[in-house]
Amino acid sequence: MSRYKDEQCRICRREGQKLFLKGNRCYTDKCSVTRRNYAPGQHGQKKTKLSEYGMQLREKQKTKAFYGIGEKQFRKYFEMASNKKGITGENLLQILESRLDNVVYKLGFGASRAQARQYVTHGHFQVNGKKVDIASYLVKSGDEIAVRENRKDNKAIKENMELIKNRVIPEWLEMDAEKSTGKVIRLASREDIDVQVAEHLIVELYSK
Ligand code: SF4
Repeated sequence: MSRYKDEQCRICRREGQKLFLKGNRCYTDKCSVTRRNYAPGQHGQKKTKLSEYGMQLREKQKTKAFYGIGEKQFRKYFEMASNKKGITGENLLQILESRLDNVVYKLGFGASRAQARQYVTHGHFQVNGKKVDIASYLVKSGDEIAVRENRKDNKAIKENMELIKNRVIPEWLEMDAEKSTGKVIRLASREDIDVQVAEHLIVELYSK
């Protein structure tokens, strides 16, 4: 497990940015990107110029890692984004942001997306009053997300909420910490999405 955790920091260092894969540690000075902001490995500090394909691939891999998505599902989201009106890259990011595990994380119930996903699949949450244990469930504008009544005493969720008290909840979401409920005011727009990604490169990659 600890090796896996180190792996997560290596992913961030390879991408040269914080992807917030480890939870609360990511917000402290212990973050590996803060301490060693160069790629891992023997030649990590050497500057290498990526090819066009290399850059496109890196953007895709980074986005997949950020949201914790596998290739098959990521490709499926790309197809969905292409079939929607608007700019495909922005549609793709909006779909990724709308995943229930991401929303649970953004509301502060989980310290990381991975933890939020685990909580969702363990059945800790409901959407509009109904239990939803599918992390990939896509929320809609107006949806209400809440900790289920019989899970409100979950120690880890309570601790997370205490720890993230000072973290800013994105404008497209609303949080009522007293009631342990959140609401999707509207779907996230590009400006709301904080991952540094050049999504057009992903579109170019998949459009080849
Ligand atoms: Fe590790 Fe920092 Fe990345 Fe968090 S943001 S996973 S602490 S390198």
